[in-house]
Amino acid sequence: MSIIASIATGQAVGGIGIVRLSGEGCIDLADRVFACASGNKLSDSAGYRAHYGSVSDGSEWQDEAVAIVYRAPKSYTGEDVVELCCHGGPAVTRMALRACIEQGAQPAAPGEYTRRAFENGKLSLAQAEAVMSIISAEGRQAALAAQAAHDGRLNRRIDAIAQQLIDLSVRIAAWCDYPDEEEIPEVTDKQLTDGLSDVLNQLVTLRREGETGKLLREGVDTVICGKPNVGKSTLMNLLSGCERSIVTDIPGTTRDVVEEQIRLDDCVLRISDTAGLHDTSDQVEKIGVERTWRRLSECALVLAVFDGSKELDDDDRKLIDSLSDKPTIAVVNKSDQQQKIDIEYISNKIQHTVYTSALKGDGLAQLTAAIMDVTQLAGLDPSAGMIINERQCDCVRRAAEAVEEALNAACAGVTFDAVGVSIQYAIDCLLELTGERASDRIVDGVFAQFCVGK
Ligand code: GDP
Repeated sequence: MSIIASIATGQAVGGIGIVRLSGEGCIDLADRVFACASGNKLSDSAGYRAHYGSVSDGSEWQDEAVAIVYRAPKSYTGEDVVELCCHGGPAVTRMALRACIEQGAQPAAPGEYTRRAFENGKLSLAQAEAVMSIISAEGRQAALAAQAAHDGRLNRRIDAIAQQLIDLSVRIAAWCDYPDEEEIPEVTDKQLTDGLSDVLNQLVTLRREGETGKLLREGVDTVICGKPNVGKSTLMNLLSGCERSIVTDIPGTTRDVVEEQIRLDDCVLRISDTAGLHDTSDQVEKIGVERTWRRLSECALVLAVFDGSKELDDDDRKLIDSLSDKPTIAVVNKSDQQQKIDIEYISNKIQHTVYTSALKGDGLAQLTAAIMDVTQLAGLDPSAGMIINERQCDCVRRAAEAVEEALNAACAGVTFDAVGVSIQYAIDCLLELTGERASDRIVDGVFAQFCVGK
């Protein structure tokens, strides 16, 4: 393996910037660009300690630095590794990197360090993906989920499911090949269908958790809707803590969709404040209303806002009736005023109702709790080891389909041989997820999404 080098820290001004080298011979190479103040050589270092000195490219330029030596196989990549910790300016790290490249290092490709760690057996493919998730996690829950995948909890869950399928497959094969051997235990239809149902349940749970986990990573696509003047823009401003939407007393002033990303607890909402939903003859307003109905059909969560100080009218009822099959929270606003709204009509159709005064900032905690509940983020245990990206989700989906196929075939009395084919495919999908049996194309695809330096 060639020696690779790259800047491991962000390309911005910072206290410290790190240039990382990996590969056989990289400690000797580091000795040609780094001089220990003690006069010792890095190649004589036992490793795992910091050496103070300076890095230079042979010209008049040099920088005060600390070098850390790791020896194979006890390093991130499993190879010899040196980290040169310089001052954190972009020019300094670039010059230190160039010095390493002039001495024979190759610029590292995106994710090449983690790929080497994977190829040297330090990480599974799913754990390597978790490294990327750890770096990009924005919220605490997303970071916990990535950490659990990195710790191998996801792998252990997947391995346990795969093992159940392998056991079933081995027993079926033995029973089919040697039905008359006394030592080979019989496989009954019931044992087979029970085993497959159990596996299917676990895969369905994994998928469901993965879908909810996606909301943690990508945020919840949310629409605030309701009649003009009920307080949608004021609520949006309260949620986002800034004055983005236009707030006026004139009905219909939010004509376009205003989008905002806001964080409530551990939940990120990608939230749109929309034009008020009501019958109108104004052409411009009409376009806004149509767009709102379209957004309503696409989004993952609806905050339907009503003016609690007024009775429900036809526009309110039309909205309520159209939301029955959408994850929705009815936000009864203007709770600071005398209430005239027909709550029963709302709660008969919409499961969650929250009272707010967007103007006074009341009810935000209840609204947050309802959002966590409706999106199922409240019940999520990110440390259980959940699937953390689309590739993993696709592997679980294909595995679940194959197990369902096997289960249907077993129930229909199809031969065990044929059931075994579907079980084998499900096992392959799960081993593809952990990387134990992933093709080069899949592995290339995973690492292509990494940043340089990781
Ligand atoms: P939108 O058309 O639904 O976006 O409504 P706006 O947010 O523009 O608000 C319409 C009017 O209702 C403004 O005068 C707001 O100040 C007022 N308003 C909004 N929320 C409340 C509330 O909770 N209580 C009271 N009393 N007035 C509110």
